[in-house]
Amino acid sequence: MTQDTKSLREEIIKACLYLSKIGQFTGTWGNISVRVEDGFLITPSAVDYMTMQPEDFVVVSMEGKKIRGERVPSSETELHRRLLILRPDMGAFVHTHSLYATCMACAQETLPVIVEDMAQIIGGEVRCTHYASGGRSKDLSEEACATIGDDSAAVLLANHGAVVGGRNLAEAVNACQILEKAAFIYINAAAIGGAKPIPLELVTEERNRLLYRYGKEDVTNL
Ligand SMILES: [Zn+2]
Repeated sequence: MTQDTKSLREEIIKACLYLSKIGQFTGTWGNISVRVEDGFLITPSAVDYMTMQPEDFVVVSMEGKKIRGERVPSSETELHRRLLILRPDMGAFVHTHSLYATCMACAQETLPVIVEDMAQIIGGEVRCTHYASGGRSKDLSEEACATIGDDSAAVLLANHGAVVGGRNLAEAVNACQILEKAAFIYINAAAIGGAKPIPLELVTEERNRLLYRYGKEDVTNL
């Protein structure tokens, strides 16, 4: 189980700055949660990433109680909490308002698995919720949980953005970039006849290759 350490908090700040730099976070819109031993770390509400310090983070229990930290936790804490409970295979979630994923979310379209890295890192099609206002955190989190499924690491929030998970923070940050790239490709490929999805059995095979075999000897040569 991941420990709540200063270096983990510094890693989250680095991830926020990186995601801001590449346009996935705009202003203070965007937030990160990382599962730790007694709950989850969450970015604070309305704190500029440029000035964010390790002590600004808040730890919230899985029951939704603030257990450490002085700041107000992100307004989207409930979204992270419910997804972390639903998906014990995920150690971190990133919520972004990135441009192309949000285009998909505004069209309320499902993003099929169209590129191999998406099959590996996200693992399934990325579905879009029904619209729930960002101000209604309970409705938004219920929609996200009802839509993500158990095969995909990401979900689109209608007319809002995306939430992307990973086994750890580095994987979740990587998955955000892969989702954005796949959304870009999907939207642009529409001009030349549309992107064709990868067959489901091959998506599963690619995902399993990452989860169970990557970095190990590949005896089946998949
Ligand atoms: Zn948001």
